Amino acid sequence: MPDSALRSPRIRPPEVDRVAASRAAVAARRARAAVKSDIAKGARSPVEVLEKATADPGGPEGTLRITDFLMSLKAIGATKTADILSRLEIAPVKRLGGLGKHQRTRLREFLVERFERPAAGHRTRLTVLAGPTAVGKGTVARHIREHYPQVLLSVSATTRRPRPGEVEGVDYYFVDDAEFDRMIADHELLEWATVHNSHRYGTPRAPIERALADGRSVLLEIDLQGARQVRAAMPDAVLVFLAPPSWDELVRRLIGRGTESQEEQHRRLATAKVELASQDEFDARVVNTTVADAALQVVDLMQVRARRSRRAATSSGR
Ligand code: 5GP
Repeated sequence: MPDSALRSPRIRPPEVDRVAASRAAVAARRARAAVKSDIAKGARSPVEVLEKATADPGGPEGTLRITDFLMSLKAIGATKTADILSRLEIAPVKRLGGLGKHQRTRLREFLVERFERPAAGHRTRLTVLAGPTAVGKGTVARHIREHYPQVLLSVSATTRRPRPGEVEGVDYYFVDDAEFDRMIADHELLEWATVHNSHRYGTPRAPIERALADGRSVLLEIDLQGARQVRAAMPDAVLVFLAPPSWDELVRRLIGRGTESQEEQHRRLATAKVELASQDEFDARVVNTTVADAALQVVDLMQVRARRSRRAATSSGR
């Protein structure tokens, strides 16, 4: 190519570039059409497509218009798409890979709730959420209880006294030592432990067995000793470790909570150090940066497991 051609401003790309560009555009449209058709056929899950779009905004999933994405979902037409977008506060011109963080979170929650709910009768497994004290396990578990009704959050029995605002049968079953002894003796607890060297906590067995038999996903929010007992009793259970963004943040959360005496705070921090060291025993790790994100990740993990067990059950003819 002569020098003058390189220096002169290009008004129109040379023919060869235009042909290549239009071929690339056709290929991109085809790839997007394939994504839509896979979603419509049920070959790909909408949540997985959203994840791919986020990881690669320039790829076929990322450049898919949000309206085209929604309309490829089962039982969603133009009117429902408009409704959903207005509810999720997403402009119809957006592409899947160009959503803001909050828009993405809202869309994922919608998709999980609508398309990933395990069907009754399918075999699902138990998930245990454990992690160091004050990491926010209780808050994440409560968020899941409030936003993901498909998940049954187990209610533990405890010998500690209720804190202000805690409700019997919702946060815990508050029992005395004699009743806790009876529950142990009658094998009513799936696991139990003395936590922070003070009170006893345990998971009632019957509601969990009933829920699993009904095909529901069950979540236990318990301490590390309890998680180990569940693993021994139910090797299929998935153990999820909820980690703090940093040690300093964990200390800040524990002190900031202000519900424990100074002596108790020291004791709990010592326990937290030991608990942090146990991360390798877990199947998955979720960092609790924001409650909604951590909750979503835990529910996603539960649903991936549920899908896997469904596939395993189908392929083994059960
Ligand atoms: P809190 O008194 O702050 O509600 O809970 C203290 C600790 O007890 C938390 O780490 C929580 O995960 C744990 N815990 C709550 N319920 C159970 C349970 O049923 N079994 C076991 N092993 N630990 C529990």
